[in-house]
Amino acid sequence: MHGLMMDTPLLISSIAEHAANFHGDREIVSVTMDNPRHRYTVGDAVPRARQLAGALDKLGLERGDRIATIAWNDYRHLEIYYGVSGAGYVCHTINPRLFPEQLVFIINHAEDRYICTDLMFVPLLEKLLPQIPNVEGFVIMTDAAHMPDTSLPNAVCYETMIAGESTDYDWPQFDERTASALCYTSGTTGDPKGVLYDHRSTVLHAYAAVAPDVMNLSSCDVVLPVVPLFHVNAWGIPYSTFMTGAKLVMPGPKMGDGEALYELIKSENVNLALGVPTVWLALLQYCEQSGQVLQSLERTVIGGAAVPRAMIEQFRKVHDVQTIQGWGMTEMSPLGTANTPKAGQESFTEDQRFDLATKAGRGIYGCELRIVDDEGQVLPWDGVAYGALQVRGPWICSDYYKLEGAAGTHTEDGWFDTGDVATIDPQGYMAITDRTKDVIKSGGEWISSIELENTAMGHPAVAEAAVIGVAHPKWTERPLLVIVAAEGQDIGKQELLDFFKGKVADWWIPNDVAFVDELPHTATGKIKKIELRRQFADYALPE
Ligand code: AMP
Repeated sequence: MHGLMMDTPLLISSIAEHAANFHGDREIVSVTMDNPRHRYTVGDAVPRARQLAGALDKLGLERGDRIATIAWNDYRHLEIYYGVSGAGYVCHTINPRLFPEQLVFIINHAEDRYICTDLMFVPLLEKLLPQIPNVEGFVIMTDAAHMPDTSLPNAVCYETMIAGESTDYDWPQFDERTASALCYTSGTTGDPKGVLYDHRSTVLHAYAAVAPDVMNLSSCDVVLPVVPLFHVNAWGIPYSTFMTGAKLVMPGPKMGDGEALYELIKSENVNLALGVPTVWLALLQYCEQSGQVLQSLERTVIGGAAVPRAMIEQFRKVHDVQTIQGWGMTEMSPLGTANTPKAGQESFTEDQRFDLATKAGRGIYGCELRIVDDEGQVLPWDGVAYGALQVRGPWICSDYYKLEGAAGTHTEDGWFDTGDVATIDPQGYMAITDRTKDVIKSGGEWISSIELENTAMGHPAVAEAAVIGVAHPKWTERPLLVIVAAEGQDIGKQELLDFFKGKVADWWIPNDVAFVDELPHTATGKIKKIELRRQFADYALPE
């Protein structure tokens, strides 16, 4: 027997309409290429998204066609999120930091019909043009006054395109499983793989994200996503802020600029900021050098890579900011865990709290977790056993776009193999020890590169650290610590290695330290271990 509840579809357009009805006066502030501080409200944004939807309908597109974006975080990009998906097309966000050949692959693989681009990326697209012949036209995200002279075919100005359209657009109603957005994983090996989100997964993920034990979002919050709209929907922030009525502050092209981020936080009263650890390094460094404190900021959600304990401590001790570590993947929309406290931890010492905060977090309702050994046997949640981390849930991908099972990432019983290695403790807190491919195997035992990196980052002379396994005649592999020294700091190898004593098992201590000017990063800011292993392939460890 079915229940007697309405079967209204969970559509992204319904979030926009909810926001317009209940939070129309909430501000959206953006730094854009043509305006250092653009300011308007949700009540302005939603009608413009409707105008865009009307304009797109006139282009002769079919439902499900891909419209790409190559753009920073700002209000026009946000309108495109709602306008494209709401009208039934697929919003394909592209990471502009990818290599040109990856961009060409992605645009062609997705069969993008139009590309919406920031002014800044027009020259890049002009160069790629001969290799992306299927793109029919380009929408330049600016106003008529800033429209560039361009060789891009059918280039239209965003403001001109939407200007004549009615704000009374009726959003189409369709199956909630309709595809809404597409994002390619940057992938350190092989071709990028497309993750295709749908309306249902997006709405459910937003419901989960706003919960008190996840991001605890409400209409009283002022949110700064330094996570890009071009990668995994900025962790769902465009949806969760509209669902709750939180004020949005978007940094545009200023994402890596510590001073600009500080100014935005201060002047807009930001109390929640989200980003990957690298971004916060720049902000914390600026604050330290200029003697500034982040007065309004209450919490940061940090994920995408392991969060060093030193960063969590600095946020708490200097700025009185709570760090909520999150873990997830492009394939997971992205949220899988969030590290928030539980009942029973009231008596924890500060040290215990910091220890706990370095873990990736506990499972969010809607994302099941399990760890398995090499034979696929499920391992216990004892905080010690580690194995391949697998997940299952309504916002986890069931396959990649146009790959039809070829990626081999899903188990026969319907779980997604994340490629991460993890432990889960009895309280359900999961800790990532490595990517499967990054694990260092010494004498048959695993050494966690992440734990060694976190330990190294605790030394004041270390700006960035990576640990890789290099060949060893006796132990097969031994860890090598590669570091970028902090500005003006001079430190010896032995002093650094001594720093590990008492912090990790003796046999985990790296065999050597290599100093470099910079570490190779992926387009999403993660350390490119593959590249690093290549660089140090012939490295001879000292006897
Ligand atoms: P992406 O799909 O680009 O978002 O990358 C997802 C990957 O980032 C995961 O599979 C992890 O390897 C890594 N990652 C994300 N969050 C964390 C975290 N809190 N700690 C360690 N690694 C993380």
